[in-house]
Order: sequence, then C-alpha cells, then structure tokens
Amino acid sequence: MSNSCIVLNGDYTFLCLIDWKRAMNLVFAGKVSVLKYSDKVIRSVGGAFRLPAVLVLMRVVRSVYKNKVPFNRKNLLIRDRFACAYCGVSGKRLTIDHVIPKSKGGKTDFDNCVVCCEDCNNRKGSGTPREAGMHLAKRPYQPTISEFVRLRLKQSGVYDLLVEIGIY
Ligand SMILES: [Zn+2]
Repeated sequence: MSNSCIVLNGDYTFLCLIDWKRAMNLVFAGKVSVLKYSDKVIRSVGGAFRLPAVLVLMRVVRSVYKNKVPFNRKNLLIRDRFACAYCGVSGKRLTIDHVIPKSKGGKTDFDNCVVCCEDCNNRKGSGTPREAGMHLAKRPYQPTISEFVRLRLKQSGVYDLLVEIGIY
C-alpha cells in the first residue's frame, strides 16, 4: 500500500484510500483526525513529520451509503474474488460472461454478469449455463456497499491494520 493512507468515515467505516499529499491536506484543513501514524517520515522545508496511516473524517458522509456499487470490470472482479465463477480458477486471463447472453436479452449488470476464464467462456459460447451443461458456483448479485468495502479492504491488504486498531 506504499504511501497511501486509509480514510474512515465519521462512523469509522472504511471510505477510501488516498495518497499522502491529499492526506496531509485533509489534516491541515482540519477535516480529519489522525487515528494512527505510519513509520514513514517526510522531510520538507517546514521540518520533518510522520505520515498518517489512518484518518477519520470529522463528520459522517452519508451519501456513500445511498450509492450502489457501480458496475464495471474492476468491481466485478472484486465481487467474484478474481476467480472464474464456473470452475473457480484464478490467475488466468479472466473475461466477463453474461450468464443470460446479450443476444437473449441478458443485461450488463451485477445480476447477470460473472467473471469467467477464457476456457469456460469458450465452452459456454452463446448459450445459457444450462445449455452448455455448466454450473455456476454462486448466483450473480448486486453487492452492497458495506460488503464491497470489506472485500476491497481484504484485497488491498489494509483489513488487518483496521482490525489491529479495533475498527473491525
Ligand atoms: Zn473457468
């Protein structure tokens, strides 16, 4: 996670990662308090200071809870944990599969798309999983913001840090 800094919402739920320059701006603007410092030190004309590792906003930003997780390739990969939804393989070239093919009216959204390896995608062709004799390990679904945040935290390696300081 290099020099990025965790920002928690005012209610101590994870909000985002930002770089240290933005983090320092928030600190100087009095918009956040520092929960934990990192062991990295930055030297500037104004002196040396430690970089913050975890910040918490002074107020709760409520709009994030109303938003849906936007559908895109990156977010689909996160939901499906970077593994094929049919055979479970990971680390291969992964594609996006429309469970109900577009040609049969399937939509491009979280409820109809899964991560799929190239082999399974070729095997499935333009049919439905049933037609291709394939089985989905889990039905596709629209992830909630809180579930998604947790997944992203685990994948970015900052989850343990938040557990350590008692956030989760
Ligand atoms: Zn596969």
